[in-house]
Amino acid sequence: MLALRRVRIAIVNSKSFGEYSSAVEELRRIGDVSRISVRRDASGGELASRLDGFHFVIASVTPYYGREFFEGNKSVVMIIRHGVGLDNVDLEAAEEHGVAVARVPGRIEREAVAEHAITLMLLALRKTYQAIEAVRRGGWRARSRFVGWELGSRVVGIIGFGNIGSRVAEILVRGFGSRVLAYDPYVPEERIKSVGAIPADLEELLASSDVISLHAKLTKENYHMLDEQAFRRMKDGVIIVNTSRGELISVQALAKALAEGKVSAAALDVVEGEPIDESHPLLEFENVIITPHIAAYTREALKGMDEFAVRAITAYLEGEPVEGLVVAPTKPRKIL
Ligand code: NAD
Repeated sequence: MLALRRVRIAIVNSKSFGEYSSAVEELRRIGDVSRISVRRDASGGELASRLDGFHFVIASVTPYYGREFFEGNKSVVMIIRHGVGLDNVDLEAAEEHGVAVARVPGRIEREAVAEHAITLMLLALRKTYQAIEAVRRGGWRARSRFVGWELGSRVVGIIGFGNIGSRVAEILVRGFGSRVLAYDPYVPEERIKSVGAIPADLEELLASSDVISLHAKLTKENYHMLDEQAFRRMKDGVIIVNTSRGELISVQALAKALAEGKVSAAALDVVEGEPIDESHPLLEFENVIITPHIAAYTREALKGMDEFAVRAITAYLEGEPVEGLVVAPTKPRKIL
């Protein structure tokens, strides 16, 4: 037990960790716990020295844990992503340096993010946010400006049919009766059909959807997958929803498509270069709704994520299988 007490755990840039659970107290039973705040663009070298002496890192979406970090830091044995995205951890470098990486299993955030995607679709289709704002400004009588569409009459294109995309499709088909097209080159068509959605290629989806919702994970190959060319192929008046990663959409191309009326509304929870401020070009458009990356912010999901981190550290220390492990290094580092 003495050895376990000396374990040092860093909670990095995650203000929400422990807010809705007893995870911090539980971690304190395992070792010393510190909350650390690091600049979002901190260099690998800077990060390596800030985390010197820590064994476990509970990591948020920032900063970037790149090769330089793994080369410079010798104490960290495991990074636990407090979230599902892994784009801020160089997994190859982690493996090479014997550092295990675990991330929250997608199921924990599934309902929260799917519900938020549906919320954004409804907000955009019904112009609900603009209507609420109008009432606040004494504009009740402007109600005829807020005639919208029903989600059940729309063709919704889902790009990325994984954990979240498949749930959004299921809610749309079973709850709203929408016609759902799904594009995911890595998922068998049967899986798409099993929830009542229709497998489609990207071209078909772009050309036929009234609403396009992004749920693909970010990879090098799909960076800016919605670029000028892709917007050109879409239906006039299309609505864009993104709860996945900002980098899937070119901001410049989206702004152009909004200015030209190609896109009638965009409802986004993620934006490239986030956090953005009030001068962001997309905010010039009245028909753009942006939430600050809160899709997974439900008490249920946050509690689930915290509990996952505690379980991951405990299992690692006890030599048990770690749930959500994405890097299990062949030569794991030892806790010194
Ligand atoms: P997942 O890995 O289960 O699903 C992602 C799917 O994307 C996979 O099925 C994969 O085959 C597919 N894909 C990859 N490249 C593609 C491409 N070029 N075209 C179409 N499909 C492609 O992940 P998930 O749990 O469903 O999460 C989906 C996304 O949501 C991730 O980017 C994740 O980071 C993001 N997310 C955001 C929030 C938030 O707070 N806004 C919370 C959780 C997850």
